[in-house]
Amino acid sequence: MNYKAPRGTRDIFGETVLGLNLLEQKAKEIFIRHGFDEVRTPIFEEAALFTRSIGQTTNIVEKEMYIFEDKKKRKLALRPEGTVSLARAFIEHRMDVSRSACKFFYSGEMFRYERPQAGRYRQFRQIGAEIYASSSPATDAEIIILAQEVLSSLGIDKISIHINSLGCEKCRPFFREALVKYFSSVKDLCEDCLRRLEKNPLRLLDCKIDSCKFTDDVPEMSDYLCCDCKDNFYIVQLLLKKANCNFTVNGRLVRGLDYYTRTVFEVRSSTVGSQDALAAGGRYDNLIKEIGGQNTPAVGFAIGAERALLAAQNVGFFENLKIPEKIFVAIADQELFSEAFTFAVKITKYGINGNKDISVFGPINGKSLTNQLKFAAKIQASKTIVFAKTEFENDKVLIKNMKDKTQSEIDLNKL
Ligand SMILES: [Zn+2]
Ligand SMILES: [Zn+2]
Repeated sequence: MNYKAPRGTRDIFGETVLGLNLLEQKAKEIFIRHGFDEVRTPIFEEAALFTRSIGQTTNIVEKEMYIFEDKKKRKLALRPEGTVSLARAFIEHRMDVSRSACKFFYSGEMFRYERPQAGRYRQFRQIGAEIYASSSPATDAEIIILAQEVLSSLGIDKISIHINSLGCEKCRPFFREALVKYFSSVKDLCEDCLRRLEKNPLRLLDCKIDSCKFTDDVPEMSDYLCCDCKDNFYIVQLLLKKANCNFTVNGRLVRGLDYYTRTVFEVRSSTVGSQDALAAGGRYDNLIKEIGGQNTPAVGFAIGAERALLAAQNVGFFENLKIPEKIFVAIADQELFSEAFTFAVKITKYGINGNKDISVFGPINGKSLTNQLKFAAKIQASKTIVFAKTEFENDKVLIKNMKDKTQSEIDLNKL
């Protein structure tokens, strides 16, 4: 039987794994510099947590969640995103009661049953950060600047940041009403949109189906913002400008999740050849209350690691990968095995001439030198250190440069 990785998943190895590690390492360094602490939440949660918070009519909840029952018939779901799990943890550990502003970041696997395409998998990684208990527009600006900083550290500079305000519970109902009025006159709305028209008209702006396309006269939230929301959005923009962060106000941006309030944003890059966002987020002042916590404002964002890596790869990020030098330890004479073995252990611990950025293979017992050298070539070793009797008697070993095939003798105590 031929087993394959399930559709939409993949095995990650070689350069890709090194790239992902470097990407996560860079993001973590930036988060820590900005005062964020890491939190790791479980990969699965009670399914109701997500359906309740993300929204019944969203694509994620309607179509994309991996839901299963455990042996005790508990309905669980693989997490489709990170924000809600982190909010659940925030409440569970009573941090909503202490009310001090706190900053957390996470990185890990998320799961969505989507049609697989370039840079989009059913199991994928997100790196995200959240700021709780501050309603200041400065935190919105900080989150957007943070997203830009992380992408820029990967060399992704050709980005466009789209921002919008979705208003608050005071002003959004008027916008909803205007959208319902507008879309009620659009013929041939798709089935999903007909349902959204009743339950969540904002999502109509997100439909990718042609017959649901709207024209330029579609209502925009900016015309309906209340004074508070308007002031707030103005300050976010002011702070971004002061920080030299370029952005575009995009009145059509709604984001795919229900919990957002006020500022939402997406970071897009033309280098991955699609309109899909590399990073996205926004403010969600009602989520924590919605899932049982005390009223706590919050703002956050997430980067899609696979898509960011694709974009980074296109701007030469992989050239920065530090691939450790592969060293093979071989024996020309079998009786030198234990000496070669001890030597290999020693250099893995102390490095060669202080260089610890090496990856050591060998020695292999019971194989001819020719076969060992063939193996060294196969694993792409750059050097092979050969233990041979004549040289070893003089405390020397042979070093073969595998690329130019040159060979030299060196004192063992000089390594
Ligand atoms: Zn408002
Ligand atoms: Zn539609």
